[in-house]
Amino acid sequence: MLKISSPEDRHNMNAVPKEFSKLKRERILVIEDEPDISELITYNLEREGFAVLQSEDGLGISEKIKSHSPDLILLDLMLPGVDGIEIARKLKNDPVTSVIPIVIVTAKGEESDIVLGLGLGADDYVTKPFSPRELIARIKAVLRRGPLKEEREKGDRIVRDGLVIDSVKHEVKVDGVSVTLTATEFRLLHYLAAHPGRVFTRDQLMSRVIGEDVFVVDRNIDVHIRNVRKKIDAYKDFIETVRGVGYRFADDE
Ligand code: CA
Repeated sequence: MLKISSPEDRHNMNAVPKEFSKLKRERILVIEDEPDISELITYNLEREGFAVLQSEDGLGISEKIKSHSPDLILLDLMLPGVDGIEIARKLKNDPVTSVIPIVIVTAKGEESDIVLGLGLGADDYVTKPFSPRELIARIKAVLRRGPLKEEREKGDRIVRDGLVIDSVKHEVKVDGVSVTLTATEFRLLHYLAAHPGRVFTRDQLMSRVIGEDVFVVDRNIDVHIRNVRKKIDAYKDFIETVRGVGYRFADDE
């Protein structure tokens, strides 16, 4: 079952869902089977000006998504019938739906699901119980970031406080002083810093940063992270460890 919920038609749950795709506000599809949680999320999203579409399961979700074109999908992983991981996999494998960002919702302690979900292409996650404020912040951050840009343009110069990462000169400066990074360390730091706020699993970093590079001696991401942190010492806290999941470069907001 699918229902629209937005301030104008709050009292008309049977409104033709087709109109949803024409709403000017950013549209969030909430896939959540627990009515209380779904209502709480919806209430808070609406208060922030989002239009919300609720679905209590993943049945025929691809078709629904295609006709209602949400801007973001909030996906609970524990659903009756088809579970959230399956839904995420399906959506990310379909070129029409793969561009829509997904924020997965899991119970605390389900890091393996988070890793799986991020590996499938989910953009971020929240763990239950979450505060409405945290949820809104996550959703806004994901919408702001837009789709993951695998390749930043050349000439990119990332500056965060006294940390400068220059991909043209292949140079990193810490408070004006050049530090020497290996090619792998540089790619790792640049990749993370180019996507602030986004969590990457070790596998993702491995395939995107190290890839098939035969010259890399140590294929352990943690070792490279440790080395980078040591070298950018004063700014090492920019590289955050997300326990059980992976790493993230601190968001700049
Ligand atoms: Ca659930």
